[in-house]
Amino acid sequence: MEAPLPLVCPVCGGKRIARVIWGCVYLRSQDEKDANAGVAVLAGDYSARRLANRTIRWACLDCDSRWIKLHHLTLQCLSWQREKEQAIARGYFEEAKNFLTHQMALRPEIEILVKGLSCS
Ligand SMILES: [Zn+2]
Repeated sequence: MEAPLPLVCPVCGGKRIARVIWGCVYLRSQDEKDANAGVAVLAGDYSARRLANRTIRWACLDCDSRWIKLHHLTLQCLSWQREKEQAIARGYFEEAKNFLTHQMALRPEIEILVKGLSCS
């Protein structure tokens, strides 16, 4: 059993504490609920998994705004992942390639954020 997340940030006293989900491939339903409710942040898709410091289990969203930025970039990447797979399933390979190109364009920024937040 893992220790519960703190209720308040020990640094700023803020209450916007979120569970960190590193390197997700797909959003499990509980993770998606938590992400939508603002109690979990998505920290990079699977491509950034190798860079992640998985011992960091929670983040204060007030202390470091990069978490929210990374969360939104990751959501975008996961959404393109779904669209890419749907395009492949329908045989629209050109369309799938476009989604991959979009993903590739976001990944450097995601990687920088994951690296930076992994050592903060
Ligand atoms: Zn804080």
